[in-house]
Amino acid sequence: MKFWSFGGNADRARRRTDPPDETQPPRSRWWLPGVGVGFITLVGLIAFPYGSPLWEFLFLSSSLVSLVLLFGAALTMPSSVRSIWWLLLAFQAMTFVAIGPFGYHDPTAGGETAFPAPADFLFLAAYIPVFAALGLLIHRLNPGRDREAWIDSSILTVAAASIFGLFLIVPVLDSPGLDGWAIAVGAAYPILDLAVLSGLIWLLVGGGRPQPAMSLLAVSFGFTLTADVIRDVTLVIPGAAVTHGWLDALHVAALMVMAAAATLPSAGSLARPRQRPDSRVTTTRLAILAIGVIAVPSLVVVRLWDSASQPTLLLALAAVAVIILAVMRIQILVTAIDRQRQVTELVLDSAGDGIVGLDRDGFVLFANLSARRMLRCRESDLLGRRFHDIAHHEHPDGTPFPWHDCPVRELISSGSAGLIPDQVYVRRDGTTFPVEMITSPLLVDATVTGAVLSFRDVSERQAVDQLKTQFVSVVSHELRTPLTSIKGSLQMLNSGILGPLNDDQQELMEMAVNNSERLGQLVNDILDLERLDAGRMPLAPADVSAATLAQQAVSSMTGAATAAEVTLVVSSTHDDADLAVHVDPHRLVQVLTNLLGNAIKFSNNGSSVTVTTTRVEGAVHISVTDSGRGIPADQLDSVFDRFGQVESGDSRREGGTGLGLAIAREIVTRSGGRINVESTLGEGSTFTVVLPLAIQATADGEA
Ligand code: ADP
Repeated sequence: MKFWSFGGNADRARRRTDPPDETQPPRSRWWLPGVGVGFITLVGLIAFPYGSPLWEFLFLSSSLVSLVLLFGAALTMPSSVRSIWWLLLAFQAMTFVAIGPFGYHDPTAGGETAFPAPADFLFLAAYIPVFAALGLLIHRLNPGRDREAWIDSSILTVAAASIFGLFLIVPVLDSPGLDGWAIAVGAAYPILDLAVLSGLIWLLVGGGRPQPAMSLLAVSFGFTLTADVIRDVTLVIPGAAVTHGWLDALHVAALMVMAAAATLPSAGSLARPRQRPDSRVTTTRLAILAIGVIAVPSLVVVRLWDSASQPTLLLALAAVAVIILAVMRIQILVTAIDRQRQVTELVLDSAGDGIVGLDRDGFVLFANLSARRMLRCRESDLLGRRFHDIAHHEHPDGTPFPWHDCPVRELISSGSAGLIPDQVYVRRDGTTFPVEMITSPLLVDATVTGAVLSFRDVSERQAVDQLKTQFVSVVSHELRTPLTSIKGSLQMLNSGILGPLNDDQQELMEMAVNNSERLGQLVNDILDLERLDAGRMPLAPADVSAATLAQQAVSSMTGAATAAEVTLVVSSTHDDADLAVHVDPHRLVQVLTNLLGNAIKFSNNGSSVTVTTTRVEGAVHISVTDSGRGIPADQLDSVFDRFGQVESGDSRREGGTGLGLAIAREIVTRSGGRINVESTLGEGSTFTVVLPLAIQATADGEA
């Protein structure tokens, strides 16, 4: 039965590891008793004398039961095409049962029945529905679509034709004892059998993945063909004795197996269309092909054995030997390639991440075990189908995600690699899970042929992150209330309302007030960031003048600047009216205040900090420039990270939290702008907030 299941060891292992196919209906509980009864019937048909009442009873009862099952299944098929296909087979089977009473040519009966007998014509007529059924199925399953299947089935068909021709057809044609009609009918049998066999070969080699019903049908055809060939042989070998008991037992076996096939759940589909050309040559397939390849030269040897000269015969023998050796060599190569493939698949299957190979159009070329497990798919559910349509067709919010919007498509067509976070994949059962994926181009000779997509289920990581955020948020909230009261009490003590303090007490009090303020700022920053992360900080944008925002920030920092002996300068290079930005004014002042705070903190006494608003094309640049210590070039990015500091201890020394710039970047980005920094160590830094001009202002400016 492995004849047309061309998978190798790796495929068997894959079937074991793949999740069960829930689309397959469960096996019927009748199959075991059915096989038992069928087997006993066959034993009876062989054991009882041919034509005895018991034999007749077994023959008729088993045939009739099978016919009833066949017609019943055919008439209750949901689809008309499948129904016609099974009806055709049922008619063919009925013809055979109907011929029984006529009897047919029996070479061992001493010529009692003439050949050809009327039954022969009925028999030949029974081929018509068989061909119609085969034609229908061949049309439906479209075998030989791929070149490999076409070549393989051609090899086997030519080999079968040579054997049939040499042993069954030519002897009938050459038979001196047969007249015109007898020759025609005698040759028609093997010719028609050969045609049926070729049709079967085409179906089995190229017609898709056979389902159980298709496999049983193949067995049924196998029985019928064997019976026919035995009968054909008895025609051409004088005195050959094959009793009809055997032939009929084979025919009844074929009929019963066919009836069983019709009752299987897969009778409707028979075979799944093959998703992609399967160019894997396995040992089994090679062995069958080898028999086909060796058959023809072997026949030449048989043919030449008596008649040819010795050198010719030797040459023919040498040809057979060379072909056998060549096939053995190819077999070794195939085994090596197969092993290599298994190793590659083992490596891919051992990876914890899902790995999927895609062609240029996003169709799956391969999918490793983790990918199949995560998506709860079988390999056959994925191969040859567009991955996006199976697993990635939904946005995280559940809205449809069409392929033409997918970043993977973009990356494949540009041949670049990229990380795509925050996606969801849909499992086969419709449930979803969050993933992070990385695509890298599949390059063959520097040409992009597709992409390798690796993905990871990040639900656990997201759960931990969420837990962490919740924890921080709860702790910060819980800290805020007592902290406010501590701060209030300390400030009261510090102000001297409750009684005068001596110098030492005053100094300690001031330290306590400063630190409680720093702590309060830290809690506020953490809560701000948490709200930004969770999308719970709604921005209320409005058209506001950039210069006004800068002025507000400067005003709120004047006290700090004075204390640090730093001068704040506001400079505007453009008419105020043109510099309107569409932002949440409160949040933008928070950003600018933070930039000013940093500039003051890291400036030397006596220096100045300048705030400039400029228009650069369609954007407004608000820059805060200091001439302080500067930031090293390799840390220009990391100062925007959470708790990112140029020198560890900066925040402690200078009274910051290390979160200000992270919050600033988040707010500016969410306002549609960006923030960047330029700095020279020892000379100073310029932080610039770039915001798009408000639409009204743009229109005015361009008018
Ligand atoms: P902090 O509250 O500590 O100031 P920020 O996120 O605002 O936190 O800044 C992060 C770090 O970036 C600071 O601790 C400091 O090391 C560096 N930094 C920020 N602004 C400046 C500046 N104008 N000059 C020099 N270093 C700066």
